[in-house]
Amino acid sequence: MKNFRLINGTEIPAIGLGTWQTPDGETAVKAVSHAIKCGYRHVDAAAVYDNEKSVGEGIRKGLQEAGLKREELFVTSKVWNTERGYDRTMRAFEKTVGDLGLNYLDLYLIHWPANAKQFADWQKLNAETWRAMEELYKAGRIRSIGVSNFYAHHLEALMQGAEVMPMVNQIEFHPGFMQKEVVDFCHQHDILVEAWSPLGTGKMLSNETLLSVADKYGCSVAQLCVRWVLQNGVLPLPKSITPSRIEENLDVDGFTISDADMATINAMEYCGGSGLNADEVDF
Ligand code: NDP
Repeated sequence: MKNFRLINGTEIPAIGLGTWQTPDGETAVKAVSHAIKCGYRHVDAAAVYDNEKSVGEGIRKGLQEAGLKREELFVTSKVWNTERGYDRTMRAFEKTVGDLGLNYLDLYLIHWPANAKQFADWQKLNAETWRAMEELYKAGRIRSIGVSNFYAHHLEALMQGAEVMPMVNQIEFHPGFMQKEVVDFCHQHDILVEAWSPLGTGKMLSNETLLSVADKYGCSVAQLCVRWVLQNGVLPLPKSITPSRIEENLDVDGFTISDADMATINAMEYCGGSGLNADEVDF
């Protein structure tokens, strides 16, 4: 699998397995271990998904059965909104690596920015969370650090006081919801954009425009979405617990979407979005 390269030189495999809504227990163990065995080298986890122990078990099983070392897998997790601030983030990190059964993470993200709707001092709170991440990064506990769901103004405020610049911003990104302003800001600042819900949590799969373009390439709509994300310079994180779909979502090297078809998909009207706005959410 191809890699993206982060600003600090870290290589990050170009497609990651999503794990949100992957049921804890045997389902998560099987999905993650199957993904590793069929070629995934990147797993996207988070404390709030409430399945990190099982994801960790899946990682160990997958690595063992595929004959791989820990260093050959890229593992991301995220600090949840209730754990913002320096001390809590430090504790949240230890809990996450403990649950995953790992002694380091490849990428740790602030899951959502503290926003002005909830916090008068939102900039300070994000800065304090970030300070913990920087310290863990400098200590070698995390190979790269970043954010998720940050708009340009959240990033600008964070970067003003940061010693280590954010390397990744994981945002909602799929046909019908491209978040151009934040993507452009990230690309201008060498921040890799990762696409959450690249299939619109499944809502893209019945879209008529995508069905007709996919038909031309003889691929599934899911494959078209993954490939389209990559061709936009963004890293897709498709989630599935179904073995055949896990394999299918990784199998996107056999075709290239033409410029004309990229333009058609890029021009799609808003559709399939979660409706979540980082300035408005109250969780
Ligand atoms: P996706 O957009 O990846 O869609 C997943 C859904 O599509 C599931 O219902 C899955 O079903 C189905 N599916 C997957 N592949 C196929 C296929 N080839 N054919 C048909 N159906 C398919 O969903 P998510 O919303 O989960 O987003 C992906 C990942 O992004 C998350 O898992 C998480 O890691 C991350 N994320 C991050 C967020 C953040 O705030 N940072 C927020 C949301 C997501 P099934 O599993 O039953 O096979």
